[in-house]
Amino acid sequence: MEKQAGSGPSLSPATMGEAWARIRGRLREEVGEVEYRTWLRQMTLAGIEGDEAIVVLPTRFLRDWVRSHYGDRLSALWQQESPAVRRVDVRLGPQRPAASAEDADEAAAPGRDGPPRRNGLAEPLSAGRVAVRSGDARGDWSAPLDPRFTFDTFVVGKPNEFAHACARRVAEKPALPGFNPLFLYGGVGLGKTHLMHAVAWAIRAGEPARNVAYMSAEKFMYRFIAALRSQSTMEFKESLRSVDVLMVDDLQFLIGKDNTQEEFFHTFNALVDAGKQIVVSADKSPSDLNGLEDRLRTRLGCGMVADIHATTFELRLSILVAKATAAGVDVPKSVQEFLAHKITSNVRELEGALNRLIAHANLFGRAVTLDNAQEVLHDILRAHDRRVTIEEIQRKVAEHYNIRLTDMSSPRRARAVARPRQVAMYLAKQLTSRSLPEIGRRFGNRDHTTVMHAVSRISELMQADAAFAEDVELLRRMLET
Ligand code: ADP
Ligand code: MG
Repeated sequence: MEKQAGSGPSLSPATMGEAWARIRGRLREEVGEVEYRTWLRQMTLAGIEGDEAIVVLPTRFLRDWVRSHYGDRLSALWQQESPAVRRVDVRLGPQRPAASAEDADEAAAPGRDGPPRRNGLAEPLSAGRVAVRSGDARGDWSAPLDPRFTFDTFVVGKPNEFAHACARRVAEKPALPGFNPLFLYGGVGLGKTHLMHAVAWAIRAGEPARNVAYMSAEKFMYRFIAALRSQSTMEFKESLRSVDVLMVDDLQFLIGKDNTQEEFFHTFNALVDAGKQIVVSADKSPSDLNGLEDRLRTRLGCGMVADIHATTFELRLSILVAKATAAGVDVPKSVQEFLAHKITSNVRELEGALNRLIAHANLFGRAVTLDNAQEVLHDILRAHDRRVTIEEIQRKVAEHYNIRLTDMSSPRRARAVARPRQVAMYLAKQLTSRSLPEIGRRFGNRDHTTVMHAVSRISELMQADAAFAEDVELLRRMLET
């Protein structure tokens, strides 16, 4: 890693203020007015501590958002202003009197009195949220939508093509029989929230009068509890029932929250009966969401249920190409392939790795190369290497197919053991960084061509047989967590 010389001269308060103003101005140009006012306007510079610039935001929600979406960019801009600043720390801090605002989540959180109010954020967001108010002063339900999560930026591949097609369908024609509710499920970081926002954007763009409400299940609960406290549950029910499209993200959050589940169930029924569209996401299928009331589970499963599978190498590669192109950065093929091979857990991590590479390249004005990718990402890559060992894979797969662990390296060729062994080889190739000959050695000294054959055979079978593919994906998920 390249080091800036020493700690550099420290900044005087006046220079610091000017630098900060320039950084804010720059960000404002980069992200656009709506996004800036939504997320960044309330940033305050608290000072410089050592080599860190301390930026504070008044709510946890804003802090997390700014940290994850703009943290890298803030650091890069600071470094351009002053090499003495090497990092930016985004913290929760006291609210500035001039910009008193609360985000909707916290305004509605339990422990506060009165019906949920929305101030501060409502105004800057209005440009992107034209539809929400449609003639109902209290119909202000939707959480902000991420402007980057549209269909245009969603990369379609085998693992998500079905979910994507369903989402498109719902966006074109909400409340189509057979697609209501739309239930999207899949592991973390695979694009559920992205798809939901894309549906919401598309419906709002096509029909601005439609009242589209997107929220997390957690927020649904907060609002419900706030309504209970302020004895305004009737208003809560009425305003919710006036939405045309209700989207609730991460429904698994409602497990164990019986009152909220009950309320959601009634809302759900009222809306579906009134011909409104519901879109729900969760980390598991309705039938696997243990702890959800049976009648709710049944209703959730009776529209369209679409699974987003774990990413494949091909999808990861297409995503990297798309994101690098969008960022206008030239990322060599070798680096793309390297990342797609190494960072297999989910799209969020893949994206994080790419963003870091890009920020680094911008910062030092260097091209992205395989060497500096390895250097810049060494911590992420190490974490991934540590993830799964061949022994673990063999053990899990043997257990799953009910064969003996020793059969993984035995010469037996009966289908009942040969197929699981191939699955284990396939997973070893996908989940570890071991080479084909190394993998072969660990499976009873087999040749690398045997491993190669296993990998392509299992890929073929997965293409041809959905149940088998699901089985292998399940094993992969178990191994990855
Ligand atoms: P989830 O809600 O399933 O946990 P997200 O929708 O938040 O996942 O996705 C995590 C990140 O990965 C987001 O930044 C999202 O834009 C990105 N992402 C996921 N899938 C895709 C895809 N198919 N194409 C482009 N970006 C994607
Ligand atoms: Mg999500």
